[in-house]
Amino acid sequence: MNDPLVTRMRGFGTTIFAEMSTLALRTGSINLGQGFPDTDGPAAMLERAVSAIREGANQYPPGPGVPELRQAICAHHKDHYGLFFDPDGEILVTVGATEAVAAAILALCEPGDEVIAFEPYYDSYAASVALAGAVLRPVTLRPVEGRFTFDPAELRAAAGPRTRVVLVNSPHNPTGTVFTRAELDEIALLCQEHDLIAVTDEVYEHLTFDGVEHVPLATLPGMRERTVMTSSAGKTFSVTGWKTGWICGPAELVRAAQTVKQFLTFTAAAPWQLAVAHGLRHELDWVFRLRADLESKRDRLAAGLSAAGFEVYRPAGTYFVQTDIRPLGFTDGLALARELPSLAGVVAVPTQVFYARPERGRHFVRFAFCKRDEVIDEAVSRLARLGALS
Ligand code: PMP
Ligand code: GLN
Repeated sequence: MNDPLVTRMRGFGTTIFAEMSTLALRTGSINLGQGFPDTDGPAAMLERAVSAIREGANQYPPGPGVPELRQAICAHHKDHYGLFFDPDGEILVTVGATEAVAAAILALCEPGDEVIAFEPYYDSYAASVALAGAVLRPVTLRPVEGRFTFDPAELRAAAGPRTRVVLVNSPHNPTGTVFTRAELDEIALLCQEHDLIAVTDEVYEHLTFDGVEHVPLATLPGMRERTVMTSSAGKTFSVTGWKTGWICGPAELVRAAQTVKQFLTFTAAAPWQLAVAHGLRHELDWVFRLRADLESKRDRLAAGLSAAGFEVYRPAGTYFVQTDIRPLGFTDGLALARELPSLAGVVAVPTQVFYARPERGRHFVRFAFCKRDEVIDEAVSRLARLGALS
């Protein structure tokens, strides 16, 4: 039989996360590839999920999400960012940020419309754009003085008459960049000049380091009315398997996303929503401890990778350290990632798969540090072998 897959999804294959986690399991390697923590979220929040199930929160919740969670998101955004979103109409609960971004793109883009995204980008963006029949216009983030950033002229050149959406992920996976006020100003200006909608992905909003604060694009002048702001509980509370996310924005944009979302999944699972509502209201101190803990894990992994011979880019946020493999004598990150289990018993993610133009990221490999200290230490001691090979 010919490939039954629709043409627009060909070439997407299996996600790199699935490939690399399967490789880690098969080879018994330490998995610093897929970004998931190896410790649990706050105990009382986990208990809340259990009690929600015992108390009968087991049928379809309302399409927009349970009121307790929408109210908790509203309070969180007001307290943290001074942004008010009406829980009735301006907040939509989704199946993770992945569905939030997909629903927004599918709702807002006609076939042939263009979506600007900063490459390297989270892999689901290109797939969502392809499903919409839209066209992705990449703007490359490049290292400048140890941190990945974009050239404002390149950003401006990417916008044209068909541009509809700019996708903005900050703190940024996989580079660890947290966009500065000046970078966000450039994006805001572009949106206003070209009448674009910003779709933000802020899943690492609380995971920033060295006192760097995450600034939501929607807080910039003129941006609240044109931003679809998405996030999720997975990273904030170390529950990536709960797949509970949300969209906040002006009512007409949220309504558009909900029109699509209701036919993707109708609604998101009820017990997790109640537990995440507890988390947002009562567990932010736990999150601040997580953030401090992750900062020290970042330092631990970054020091180990430098000692092993990688060039290391120190992230200001997220779970990930980006490295350049060329000082070790390697040139192709995908080949190295596939070989790394046999060379060192470690799994990482080749950054090139997150580029529209993979050659621009061929020499980068991403390592996750959201792991117990002893796991990081063991990985680092194994990776120290690489120097001897080159
Ligand atoms: N966006 C980014 C940038 C991510 O790193 C991830 C992985 N957590 C997601 C979206 C997916 O989030 P979720 O699991 O909530 O769908
Ligand atoms: N967000 C995580 C990462 O970037 C994992 C996402 C996934 O497995 N789809 O590694």
